[in-house]
Amino acid sequence: MTKRNKELENIKNKVIDCKACPLYKNRIYPVVGEGNHSADIIFVGEAPGAQESKTGRPFCGAAGKILDELLDSAGINRKDIYITNILKDRPPKNRDPQSEEIKSCVPYLEKQIEIIKPKLVCSLGRHAMIFLMERFGLSEELDQISKIHGKAFEADSFKFIPFYHPAVAVYNANMKETLKKDFKILKTI
Ligand code: URA
Repeated sequence: MTKRNKELENIKNKVIDCKACPLYKNRIYPVVGEGNHSADIIFVGEAPGAQESKTGRPFCGAAGKILDELLDSAGINRKDIYITNILKDRPPKNRDPQSEEIKSCVPYLEKQIEIIKPKLVCSLGRHAMIFLMERFGLSEELDQISKIHGKAFEADSFKFIPFYHPAVAVYNANMKETLKKDFKILKTI
């Protein structure tokens, strides 16, 4: 096993045992992250949904189907990227992540980024955008997602692109078209 695989395995074991916030009480499976451990691109969503927490896999439900379509439209193979979330456990009834939950869970995400060393980090949704931009030196550029979606920023050690969350397109064909247009930027980077 490579050092990188070992380090990521270590994080997985820590998340499985994590009781840092009350979300562990309803845990079926934590959703640690999935994909290529040497990926150039990391996608960061908000938190697992019902389907994800039953399988332990990120973006495997309705929003995941949209994400697969978007990746496909940009010519990206899901196997080549890494996908994870801000929170590793599902908030009850898919409510928004609370700041205390984010604070206790993000050290895992920070470690994942440090180990994988991606060239590009993409947020999916508002919560991931806000956390990542504030954390990685882009506070001044932070704005409403409706103003900065699909734009590339230079963060400390990687490029950063905020996207809308794929769930917004589940029942809204216009949003799917917006997301598809935004994902085209991935072909040029
Ligand atoms: N929504 C997310 O933000 N993450 C998932 O893994 C699934 C749905």
